[in-house]
Amino acid sequence: MDCLFCKIVSGQIPAKLVHQGDSVIAFDDINPQAPTHVLIIPKKHFENVGELAANDPLALKELFIAAKEIAASRALAGYRTVFNTGAEAGQSVFHAHLHLIGGRALQWPPG
Ligand code: 5GP
Ligand code: ZN
Repeated sequence: MDCLFCKIVSGQIPAKLVHQGDSVIAFDDINPQAPTHVLIIPKKHFENVGELAANDPLALKELFIAAKEIAASRALAGYRTVFNTGAEAGQSVFHAHLHLIGGRALQWPPG
């Protein structure tokens, strides 16, 4: 399968890793939208968070625990966690990934 994030998991494509767990890895987004913009992904391929939740809920939990730990390690005053699902919602990589965004004041609602 030709999946960008599977290639990051396997090391075929380099990324700046910031965290590794049993079933997840986290790395800096290549086009950061805030001082902290980390992508936290399951090592196994699922197309979106719905598929991940249905098939590997433990990995879904690990994504959020990783977010909490990365935010704490950076002493973020607050942070946002986002899954985009489907092209209309802005999903461009179809391997489930949790965006961890922080380090600046964030607007609500998002665009
Ligand atoms: P999406 O739009 O699917 O929610 O998020 C995909 C994210 O992956 C985007 O924020 C984009 O900047 C990031 N991205 C795309 N290609 C690469 C890459 O090759 N390396 C890294 N580290 N991030 C990438
Ligand atoms: Zn994949």
